[in-house]
Amino acid sequence: MVIVMNARASDDEVASVTDRVTELGFQAHLSRGSERTIIGVIGDERPVDPEVFEALPGVERVVRILHPAKLASRDFQPEDHVIELPNGAKLGGGQVSVMAGPCAVESREQVEGAAEVVARQGVRILRGGAFKPRTSPYSFQGLGEKGLLLLREVADELGMAVITEVVTPQDVPLVSRHAEMLQVGARNMANFSLLKAVGDSGRPVLLKRGLGSTLDELLQAAEYILAQGNRDVALCERGIRTFETSTRFTLDINAIPVLKQLTSLPVVVDPSHATGKAELVAPVALAGIAAGADGLLVEVHPNPREALSDGAQSLDPEGFAGLMDSVKKLAEALGRTAA
Ligand code: PEP
Ligand code: MN
Repeated sequence: MVIVMNARASDDEVASVTDRVTELGFQAHLSRGSERTIIGVIGDERPVDPEVFEALPGVERVVRILHPAKLASRDFQPEDHVIELPNGAKLGGGQVSVMAGPCAVESREQVEGAAEVVARQGVRILRGGAFKPRTSPYSFQGLGEKGLLLLREVADELGMAVITEVVTPQDVPLVSRHAEMLQVGARNMANFSLLKAVGDSGRPVLLKRGLGSTLDELLQAAEYILAQGNRDVALCERGIRTFETSTRFTLDINAIPVLKQLTSLPVVVDPSHATGKAELVAPVALAGIAAGADGLLVEVHPNPREALSDGAQSLDPEGFAGLMDSVKKLAEALGRTAA
C-alpha cells in the first residue's frame, strides 16, 4: 500500500501517518519528492482497510498494491484449481464441463425428461432450481425440499451429480444433504452470511456474479467462501445489467480472460440467463468457451413452451444436442475435451 500525502502536508502530519503505520505492525518507507511525500507501507497490507489512513490529516489518497482477495488470487495459487465431484465429474483445468438441466424443478417427468436429454450428450452434472429467487413474489418459487428429492432421485438413476441454488444460510445443511454442489445466485452474490454458510458447508460452490457487480467484488465474494477453508469455488459470468435491451443481460466476455488472469478458480459461463433467448444460447456459449471458460451452465427443458420459469431461454432436446455438437467440435479445435 502506498500513502500519498497532499502537497501542503506538514512534517507533523507526515510523522503522525508514519507513526500509525508502525503502530499497525508495518514498516514505513518515506520518500520525499519535490512536490509530494509518499509513504510505502511494507508488509501484507490486505487485512488493513485503506480507510484507516485515508482519514488522517494530510493524506491525499491511498493506493493498494495487492488485490484484497488474497486466497482467490492467482498469486496465491498459481496452478488452475480443479473441483472434483464424487461421480468423477470435474470442473476446471482446461476441460470444458457442462452443467445442464431445467431452470426450476417442476415435476418428476420434467426433471427426468431434461436429465435424460443432457445425460445422453455426456453431461454429468444436473442443474435444477428447487428454491427459486424470483423477481416477483407471485412467480413460481420452486418446489423446495420436494424439488431437491426429485433432483437427487433422477441424478442417482443416471449417475449424475446435482448442482442447485441455496438462497438462505438456514437452508445450507438441507441443500448440502441432497446436492454435491451449491449455487449462490446472482442476487445473493453479496449476501455475506450466505457466503460464510456455504463456505462452511464442505460442498463445492458455484458463485454467480451479481447483476451490477464488478469482478473485484466477485473475487471478494469468493474470498468469503475461501476464507472459511473451502477451496472448491467456481465463478460464473451470467451477464450484467447494461443499457442494452435486446437481450436480458449482457454477457461480459472480457470477464472470462480477466478472471483467468486474476484467479486460478474455474470460470463458467451461463449463456441462458445472459441472453434470455434460446436462439442466442449456442453462439454465446461458444464465445465463452473460445474466450477460455472452463464450462457452461445451461437451461434445458423437455418442452420449453410449458416451463414454469425461463421457458424462453431454455433449450429443447434438439437445441441442446445441437449445442453439444458444436461445443465438442470447438473444444477439440482448442485442444480441450468436453464432458
Ligand atoms: C439460476 O441459475 O437458476 C438463476 C436464478 O440464475 P441467476 O442467479 O444468474 O439469475
Ligand atoms: Mn433460470
